[in-house]
Amino acid sequence: MKIKDVRVSRIKAPLKKPFKTALRTVDFVEDVLVYVETDDGYIGMGEAAPTAVITGDILGSIEDAVMSYIRPAILGIDVLDTDRVFLAMDRCILHNPSAKAAVDMAVYDILGKYYNVPLYRLLGGYTDRIRTDITISINEIDEMVEDSVRAVKEGFDTLKTKVGGDYRKDIERVKAIRDAVGPDVKIRLDANQGWRAKDAVRAINALERYDIELVEQPVPAWDVEGLAEVTRAVSVPVMADEALFTPNDAIRLISMRTCDILNIKLMKAGGIHNAIKINSMAEAAGIECMVGSMMECKVSVTAAAHFAASTHNVTRLDLDAAYLLAEDPVAGGIRYDGPDISFEAGPGLGIEGLKCC
Ligand SMILES: [Mg+2]
Repeated sequence: MKIKDVRVSRIKAPLKKPFKTALRTVDFVEDVLVYVETDDGYIGMGEAAPTAVITGDILGSIEDAVMSYIRPAILGIDVLDTDRVFLAMDRCILHNPSAKAAVDMAVYDILGKYYNVPLYRLLGGYTDRIRTDITISINEIDEMVEDSVRAVKEGFDTLKTKVGGDYRKDIERVKAIRDAVGPDVKIRLDANQGWRAKDAVRAINALERYDIELVEQPVPAWDVEGLAEVTRAVSVPVMADEALFTPNDAIRLISMRTCDILNIKLMKAGGIHNAIKINSMAEAAGIECMVGSMMECKVSVTAAAHFAASTHNVTRLDLDAAYLLAEDPVAGGIRYDGPDISFEAGPGLGIEGLKCC
């Protein structure tokens, strides 16, 4: 089971419509695929998303981190000795969480294949059916209302609405969406660091009347004290996203009581092995987690879904990224039925390969 080779390639897919947040606009997804191969013929697959404005990872840096640093560090290690694999990976290069996430999920894919079980069962097996929200990009009000109504017609009962612009206009956005979708649809908001702490308090207190489930990352990632200030000042639950990358971040966020919920993404955490640590710390502190993703294709969204399904402490999902693709280049992996996500019966991630090759 020794790691014999690590390879990379690229994957690209267009989106149904541009994805817009307070930080960026994206028209298509282009990611790095990572293949890890063992000397007895197992091949695991992973995917890394270059999200320059959040993780600092870009296509070339991901490829170089994997091929020039991680590959030589993990070659020859028995893949069943996962702690040794991940320790070597985490020590050979700082940061680069998306590159590490891709290698990590390829290793877990191999473990699932070796033990002949779907990955979510290997990780804990809590459930085999999960349900995602859907993202409503930040746009002019009419377009956001139209997108929200369409999403509800497609079966989604939870909208993750992007805000984080001028907070007065954000209030108008949310009011219009609530009026259009009625009282039974959950609305969670993601400000993507777009407000300053005082404005966030003002905005969230004004938004409370529209029955907001939670507000995600209201203030800049670096402003942990500001995040805590907002959390203390509002009754709507506050979730940390960009402020949380590693297990070390999680300790600080949890012990300082800076937020009510954590949003774990494999591309920030550096893979499933770190996601497990973060979720365990959160659970011990009575904090629930959401599992989200960047704009990604289906290999890494599938890995995130397996992790999310494995544990009862992940109570919310934001895994619509592959649903938002106009064309899905990946065969196998998770299946979407509107918001409902189910898994292939196959072992590991259940990815069959790329449709085009
Ligand atoms: Mg977010």
